[in-house]
Amino acid sequence: MATWHPHLWHPTTQVATADPPLRAVRARGALLELEDGRQLIDAISSWWVTLHGHAEPEIAAAVAAQAQTLEQVIFANFSHPPAEALATALSARTGLERLFFSDNGSTAVEVALKIAWQWWRNQEAAGTPGAAARRRLIAFDGAYHGDTFGAMALGERSIFSAPFQPLLFEVARAPWPATWWDDEGIEAREAAALQRLEQLLEEVPTAAVILEPMIQGAGGMAMVRPSFVHGVAERVRAAGALLIADEVMTGFGRTGALFAHRHAAIQPDLIALSKGLTGGFLPMGVTMASEGLFAGFVDAEQPGRTLFHGHSFTANPLGCAAANASLALLERQAERFTGFEARHRPHLEALARHPRLRRPRLLGTVAAVELVVERPGYLNPVGRELQRRVLEQGVFLRPLGQVLYLLPPLCLSDAQLEQCYAAIGLALDAL
Ligand SMILES: *Cc1c(COP(=O)(O)O)cnc(C)c1O
Repeated sequence: MATWHPHLWHPTTQVATADPPLRAVRARGALLELEDGRQLIDAISSWWVTLHGHAEPEIAAAVAAQAQTLEQVIFANFSHPPAEALATALSARTGLERLFFSDNGSTAVEVALKIAWQWWRNQEAAGTPGAAARRRLIAFDGAYHGDTFGAMALGERSIFSAPFQPLLFEVARAPWPATWWDDEGIEAREAAALQRLEQLLEEVPTAAVILEPMIQGAGGMAMVRPSFVHGVAERVRAAGALLIADEVMTGFGRTGALFAHRHAAIQPDLIALSKGLTGGFLPMGVTMASEGLFAGFVDAEQPGRTLFHGHSFTANPLGCAAANASLALLERQAERFTGFEARHRPHLEALARHPRLRRPRLLGTVAAVELVVERPGYLNPVGRELQRRVLEQGVFLRPLGQVLYLLPPLCLSDAQLEQCYAAIGLALDAL
């Protein structure tokens, strides 16, 4: 019987109304095994991190070997081979020459923001014309960038951040023209959003614009067209501002491309990565930055131009070893992420015909659809109800309010995928 532990405090959980947590004892591939022997399909990759599958043997072996070689060393004074290998690999794949390590997605975003902001302050100190005025930050409606203060400020104001509202710095916001299959109004919404962005960029000199390329994750798996992401990048470039891509969720094949910004053929100045980075084994975040940004922090005469940021576990060798093994595996079996969308499609087409559902959308491994409800939002209880019913059929989902989505590990078999969709169909009929 599931119970609450007297000494634990769970994330984003209202203890008074939530079901007690399930007790996991082991996991393999797409399956989580509970204490009572039940097996569940992990259809959301354990909060979007388990990229290949649980306990993936190659990554497990790489972590075990690294643990017996070099488990940790202070990264301010030392470097080490797994960190260097990862930096070389990710630089080649992102087109951004410099890698800065931190511990999770929120810190990867914080670091991107600190680099962008301080780069302009360093430019200002160096006397670059116009740099001093660049103080505006722009993000998008519905965005989620993490739970630390800077990341909260960049994200949409919500029930998550409401108590901290007076402590959050100001961010200008542009509309996010989310779309779905057979969406007839998208051209007009997209044009209006780009026009508003242009206005914001013209109004006040802008330091940086941050977006989640192609999919807003926590914002409800809200997908946009590549043309929008491309249009954003063009306008940001024209305004001379910096473009930050928050690929914490979309990175590492999630959207069918190695990185989501590639769908729009754009080059961000900064990219935040985490979730899939270590294949879901270890907490780690990285911020990729261009050589031009890095150069703005190099100055023998002015120590204040240094990026004074660092975490105790910066570039943890175990995390680096996991990330290197995960990336090698991902690229060796690229058809597993490039081909996932085609596996979802027929199932989502069939499911979307259900009268209670609307707005189906699909990109790479991520499939989403919405329940028709009177009051949409994260707190709408329909998601929790559906979660319970799907769980009874051996599938773990975690809807975002009325938004149901699948974001499974790449190892998910055809039979398991079918089981996920069948469980949702049955749960809907029983609602
Ligand atoms: C999850 C997420 C974050 C925050 O990452 P954490 O590891 O949870 O701190 C930031 N941005 C996006 C797009 C995310 O999905």
